[in-house]
Amino acid sequence: MSNATTTSGLTFDIQLSTQRKTPQERAEILQSPGFGNVFTDHMVTIRYSAEKGWYDARLEPYGPLSLDPATSVLHYAQEIFEGLKAYRHPSGAIATFRPDANAARFNRSAARMAMPALPEDLFLGAITTLLEHDGDWVPTQADASLYLRPFMISTDVGMGVNRPSQTYLFILIASPSGPYFSGGIKPVTVWLSEDFTRAAPGGTGAAKAGGNYAASFLAQAQAVEKGCDQVVWLDALEHRWVEEMGGMNLFFVFGSGAEARLLTPELTGTLLPGITRDSLLKLAPELGIPVEEGRLSTEEWRAAALSGELTEVFACGTAAVITPVAHVKSAQGEFRIGDGEPGPVTMRLREELVGRQYGTVADEHGWVHVFG
Ligand SMILES: *Cc1c(COP(=O)(O)O)cnc(C)c1O
Repeated sequence: MSNATTTSGLTFDIQLSTQRKTPQERAEILQSPGFGNVFTDHMVTIRYSAEKGWYDARLEPYGPLSLDPATSVLHYAQEIFEGLKAYRHPSGAIATFRPDANAARFNRSAARMAMPALPEDLFLGAITTLLEHDGDWVPTQADASLYLRPFMISTDVGMGVNRPSQTYLFILIASPSGPYFSGGIKPVTVWLSEDFTRAAPGGTGAAKAGGNYAASFLAQAQAVEKGCDQVVWLDALEHRWVEEMGGMNLFFVFGSGAEARLLTPELTGTLLPGITRDSLLKLAPELGIPVEEGRLSTEEWRAAALSGELTEVFACGTAAVITPVAHVKSAQGEFRIGDGEPGPVTMRLREELVGRQYGTVADEHGWVHVFG
């Protein structure tokens, strides 16, 4: 055991991999890592039981899990996850962006799925421990990063469904990712899904749960079938109020220049409260762009796009940061946003956010956590 970090009374036991990639192998992988296909040398695991609480925190070699076929997560999908990135700053230091917000959301997701809360210092300690050992996997090339994926699964063995699992496993894995848009920012075409819904009132839409994604793939496949890149989710009751795009939140820009203002769908309980969304809600007004959280119907979206009042639309989330939306298709037909090119407000906000994440724009909010 070396270099152990103690958090919440737990010490991370360090078991280094005997099969670490060599610096040359790693450099080769980091040249074009893609997204989510390759993983670092290690992972962090922490176990939970109702009697012991959280215990057995460790850094260990990245590798397959061995699970009994009757493990509850495989049947009843008690699973939650997070997604955040580690960025390489010009100084060479590694930074994460608002990891405390991910820790807090992880616990809100846990509460909704009847899973135990993970103390925030353990969540952050897991990230620190992994970055201490696998920090060399944070790419240096522009717009690349190390994607961090913390998640939790239920591990009780047995088919009984009358209560949540009494045991859980938290895991943190990391995957180097290249620039999301390799050939420059590419605006997307979206499909307004009136056949399927992602989330309903009282459901799990505000939780970052794998099950929400399982339920979304068919609608995403339909969007692709219709010649679109992404599905746009509407509310479950009227199939009318715009909620999200795939796994990203949406922003609408009305007007232009000094008159530009933003609207984003309000958090009704069926939307996932994005940390990128929240960051933009704080940043935009500081840049002189007012923001409103409210409702927008598909008819209003279409009418405002056709009248020219709506000038830009973009989606935001950790993976792609900000993605312009250029075309909208639905069973009622299709329309274009502006001239179909990434707009100035979209690109300005993207630059401001990315600049803070990569350490080239001053972080006046205390959002950036620098390691080493
Ligand atoms: C993760 C996620 C988002 C974006 O959240 P960020 O914290 O900004 O990455 C938006 N919608 C859904 C459905 C998500 O799962």
